[in-house]
Amino acid sequence: MASTAPQLLGLQKSFGYGDRLGLATPGHIAASQKYDFAPVFAQQSAREMKRTGRTPFDVMKAAADALETEGYDGAWGADADHLTADEDIASWAAAGFTFFTLDPSQFVNDQADDLAEGKVIGEAENLYVEGVFKTLDWDDRYLGEKYVAGQTMYRFNRESLYRAAIKYGRALAHCEKLAGFISSCLGHGAFEIEVSFDETASPTTPLEHLFVALELKQRGISVVSLAPHFVGELENGIDFRGDLAEFESSLEQHVAIARRFGPYKLSVHTGSDKFTIYPLLGRLCGNLLHVKTAGTSYLEALRILHRADFKSFRGLLEFCCERFPEDRRSYRISTTEDEVRSLATNAASDEDLLNRRPARQLLHVTYGSVLSEGKDSRGRPFRDTLMEVLEEHGKEYRQSLEAHFDRHLSALCKG
Ligand SMILES: [Zn+2]
Repeated sequence: MASTAPQLLGLQKSFGYGDRLGLATPGHIAASQKYDFAPVFAQQSAREMKRTGRTPFDVMKAAADALETEGYDGAWGADADHLTADEDIASWAAAGFTFFTLDPSQFVNDQADDLAEGKVIGEAENLYVEGVFKTLDWDDRYLGEKYVAGQTMYRFNRESLYRAAIKYGRALAHCEKLAGFISSCLGHGAFEIEVSFDETASPTTPLEHLFVALELKQRGISVVSLAPHFVGELENGIDFRGDLAEFESSLEQHVAIARRFGPYKLSVHTGSDKFTIYPLLGRLCGNLLHVKTAGTSYLEALRILHRADFKSFRGLLEFCCERFPEDRRSYRISTTEDEVRSLATNAASDEDLLNRRPARQLLHVTYGSVLSEGKDSRGRPFRDTLMEVLEEHGKEYRQSLEAHFDRHLSALCKG
């Protein structure tokens, strides 16, 4: 019998397969069944939903129907990703999602690190005035304590503690509010929570991570995973860029904190295509690892379009080039407008285009424009053409996704 309702996955290593078109699950299943990562087959962010015009119900139904058709009978999860506000939550809960990723980054104060020394105490006091901390002596809990995680001993001094609190305090209070709302929607035990800080302006230091872990516990928020902003660049659709040794040593500290003061998993967002760091992630995190991917399955869909209907692909590519300056704004990517302009004038007929950074990032950041309003020269929505091609070439799409995620999962298991 097929298992069409999502379950809680707990502290087993897991892998999230976001699917923006609703046709990728068969390929995701094919790859997933060969590895011991618990799969999250329904995963979409509130932002993706807006950009693709889908509802939580649509996302859930696409995954559940495919699982039923394939006769999948294992456990799987459903992630309501990057929730920022109360009003999102009820509709996700109603659709059956059981894993809620809270994104409080709008309440993170990215200026905290640069705040003039003389202003730190005043700003920290404001947190009490605003109700972020319920008592004025909240800092007594932390000052003078020693925290050991792995090989490292951490201590807060007044300044490091206050800066961490100024940076994350309001965000944590917001998480507390959202977690309470989820609990009232779903009842106890029926859901899991992740907290994500991956979209903050600067990397999360181990000491900041420790503060977050301690405060989550203090506030009674039990998380199954946490997404720090890792050092180095985890850009959309491409491999890790940055100093590997630095990434490794900071990852070691993050894992130790997650293990000692959770335990919870470390969640790697924008986790697709990071082949260079997968063996490290697999080795250092062990079971305390969750990887999220989303746009990379959409890029595989465009690969099928390139093969099956090149004329439509080229029209879509030109449309994306026009939209790039606007659509790139909400992303941290290194592809420039100049690179995109030279793409437009180059011949796009070589499929290898889809393996290179400029085209991958161009196509990645413009998916919302393509799927919501993009039309070819005859006025036909690109979305319709793409869906038709994928239905017609379902076997090829499935094979290309299987091979693509094979590369991901086998590298993660290599460590
Ligand atoms: Zn994220």
